[in-house]
Amino acid sequence: MPLSLNEFIATIDSRKVESQNALPPIEAIAHAEASLPVSLPDTGMGLENLKQHLLDDIVPGLNRPNSSSNYYGFIIGGSTDASMFADYIVSGFDQNVQVYTPKEAIGGTVENAALRLLQQLLRIDEADFPGRIFTTGATASNILGLALGREFAVAAAGRRRSPPSSPSVAQLGVLQACLQARVRKIQVLTTLPHSSLYKAASIVGLGINSVVSLPLSPEEPWRFDLDALERKLSDSDGVAHIISISAGEVNTGRFATSSEEMIHIRALADKYGAWIHVDGAFGLQARVLLPSESHKSIVDGIHSIHLADSLTGDAHKLLNVPYDCGFFLTRHLALQQAVFQNGASVIPDTAEIPSAHNLAMENSRRLRALPMYASLLAYGRTWHRTLLERQIELARAIAAYILASESYELLPKNSDLKDVYMIVFFRARSVALNDGLASKLNASRVIYVSGSQWDGAPATRLAVSTWRVDVERDTARVVTELERVARGSEH
Ligand SMILES: *Cc1c(COP(=O)(O)O)cnc(C)c1O
Repeated sequence: MPLSLNEFIATIDSRKVESQNALPPIEAIAHAEASLPVSLPDTGMGLENLKQHLLDDIVPGLNRPNSSSNYYGFIIGGSTDASMFADYIVSGFDQNVQVYTPKEAIGGTVENAALRLLQQLLRIDEADFPGRIFTTGATASNILGLALGREFAVAAAGRRRSPPSSPSVAQLGVLQACLQARVRKIQVLTTLPHSSLYKAASIVGLGINSVVSLPLSPEEPWRFDLDALERKLSDSDGVAHIISISAGEVNTGRFATSSEEMIHIRALADKYGAWIHVDGAFGLQARVLLPSESHKSIVDGIHSIHLADSLTGDAHKLLNVPYDCGFFLTRHLALQQAVFQNGASVIPDTAEIPSAHNLAMENSRRLRALPMYASLLAYGRTWHRTLLERQIELARAIAAYILASESYELLPKNSDLKDVYMIVFFRARSVALNDGLASKLNASRVIYVSGSQWDGAPATRLAVSTWRVDVERDTARVVTELERVARGSEH
């Protein structure tokens, strides 16, 4: 007998332990590991036994970003109830959204509606950004961004030659297109990029070494040095450029550019034929904020980001939908279809809504739009704004504790609370306490934070990203752990 959707949801929900702990007990992981079979059985154990195995052996060993509010590692987010309900439907009805077939099924139309609602939430003009698609995450979106940037910048370099040509990398490959355009190098100019930008550069044939950081200063390495940028762009003899904006930077949460700087970068890109990509995996969310004194620097960092050619965002992070879901937006739909066309002789895609298989890497695709659609409709614009406001408030409450603390210091140095987004970046003042600090904080399994590096020394990163945030309760829990670890180092 097939299980009904309701039964599925009830069974799974009944096993979600309401615990404040972010990590499962170590014994539960050991038990789960010991329960894994080493060989494939000839005869399966059957559905009932399988259910018991998953629920009793595996589930207790999972971590709990979706039931504890204290999972601060990476930027994991949680899942809203509305998005989870939709996610069960996506699996239950096994939808594939590849080709837009509005008379056969509603999937593609729903995906487009979800993307448009999302653009409205983030105030990204739907007409200016007609290239829109859900991806598996920000890494995938960054790959799309660099693939389009490569197509655009090489063709632009070719048009500057005489006689001008406009070679297509998608058609000719990187080597032939660059030869035709007499491009000897493609560079990705950025500041403190996420690791996935290097991966994207490798995959699309630019090379990891093509990613070049142009930091304003050692004190503010996340900010763009605009003079250095202009020098690079103007040296365009045989070099094609993609500009990648880290909005925000993954350790500090800071934004690479002010609004005014972004306007300047747009002018430079137009002058020199460069493509602007923005990695706003978690930063784009800040576009839900209203201008206010306390959010001034955040709003300024994200306000003009829509001047870019392409935008990366993650929905499985601050938008709190289940894994996996990212999105990609671009002004250049035709270019996107040229690069991602599914088959050499595409039938021109003239449908009202372009088919997804000509817009991104996959052919077959999950209807990952539905959870996002569900959350946007269930909770609306105001809920998303006030959620981010509370997340910032919690981060700043923890940052305020750290600023006043004798044991810890807030990073980057000279940080003002008003610059803190939803990430608290810090280290311990003493080398001994700072050594392995993230592991020490995580040892009681109540909170989970990530270890990182800053200025050549270990640093710790606490990212607030779940909808379960409760400013007072969660500040107290984090402070308890910070104090426990600081006391421990005195002995
Ligand atoms: C998380 C993150 C990524 C990678 O996102 P995935 O969803 O894990 O692929 C890329 N860029 C930034 C700024 C991020 O925070």
